Amino acid sequence: MATASRSRSKIKATTGEPQAFQAEVAKILKLMVHSVYSDRDVFLRELVSNSSDALDKLRYESIASPELLEGEPDLSITITPDREKKTLTITDSGIGMSADELASNLGTIARSGTEAYMKGAKDYGATDAPDLIGQFGVGFYSAFMVADRVEVFSRPAGTRTAHVWRSDGLGTFTVDKAEPGHRGTRIVLHLKEDALDYLDDWKIEAIVRNYSDHIVHPIRLAGEGEARQINSGSAIWMRGKAEVTAEQHKEFFDSLAHTAGPPALTIHYRAEGRQEYSVLLYVPGEKPFDLYDPERKGKQRLYVRRVFIADDAQLLPPYLRFVRGVIDSADMPLNLSREMLQNNPDVA
Ligand code: ADP
Repeated sequence: MATASRSRSKIKATTGEPQAFQAEVAKILKLMVHSVYSDRDVFLRELVSNSSDALDKLRYESIASPELLEGEPDLSITITPDREKKTLTITDSGIGMSADELASNLGTIARSGTEAYMKGAKDYGATDAPDLIGQFGVGFYSAFMVADRVEVFSRPAGTRTAHVWRSDGLGTFTVDKAEPGHRGTRIVLHLKEDALDYLDDWKIEAIVRNYSDHIVHPIRLAGEGEARQINSGSAIWMRGKAEVTAEQHKEFFDSLAHTAGPPALTIHYRAEGRQEYSVLLYVPGEKPFDLYDPERKGKQRLYVRRVFIADDAQLLPPYLRFVRGVIDSADMPLNLSREMLQNNPDVA
């Protein structure tokens, strides 16, 4: 995810020779890969979100320069497991990266984040350090939690030259020329032996449904059988209030609350200004059976730009815990960890 506050130093790609990651990156990689990160599944969320961003960027730039679409307007993400090669490939038809961009974007973690991470890791003691990973957006690197080798093929939209970035995540990477294939980026994860379950269709589908279901671009699974779309892409809370029908509200409320019957009250608005977020909340038409259980947790789901973050983010005061719905922030970092949620001023 591109975050405005982050600056990346520029690195020139020297094709054909191994290049070193910036010093701290190597340390982080080691910490991340050798620590038991509580939820490895998030690697897919990170890569899919990056792809989705790349598609958004292309869509945006093609307004001024339609030729960037190269007559191929399909903006989508495809996930392809290969059981024989033990690879999981994530392909997007987005904006792509040049050789220098591959080196800069994937060879650097923004310094501020890195330093904060290293400091945080020290403060918490190395054993708890993995939980901090999410806080500083080491997004792409999470690929190395499941892969011992990663290749990133990319051809920027509107160009004819492609490059491949390769690394085993242990401190160096290479950038080489590659066959110019489709526009955009193809990430090939050579999975670790203990991560081969990520080749299962059902597993991939479950992760995508959980974290990335509402991404607007189609996410296709090219597993066994024909490729099919596995996200619903229907974030109704992002639409204008007038565009959503009562029937759609009822359906969405059903999916959240698992009750029949329409909500008694629907609250749908978008806040703009210093903080930008969309809110879609429902007051159930029926009393939930556990209404008076003080242990009952709030059931509002927190999204950041359509990506699912948490369903127990305690966004409303406890006495409103019967309210169901979604709050989607445009400003919060995607890689918010649970600890961060509790102390984040934006959440408050
Ligand atoms: P973040 O996404 O938080 O900026 P990442 O490490 O996940 O950090 O990605 C670093 C950068 O690499 C992104 O900001 C983006 O510029 C670039 N990038 C990653 N994946 C892709 C992709 N699929 N297509 C184009 N650019 C990408």
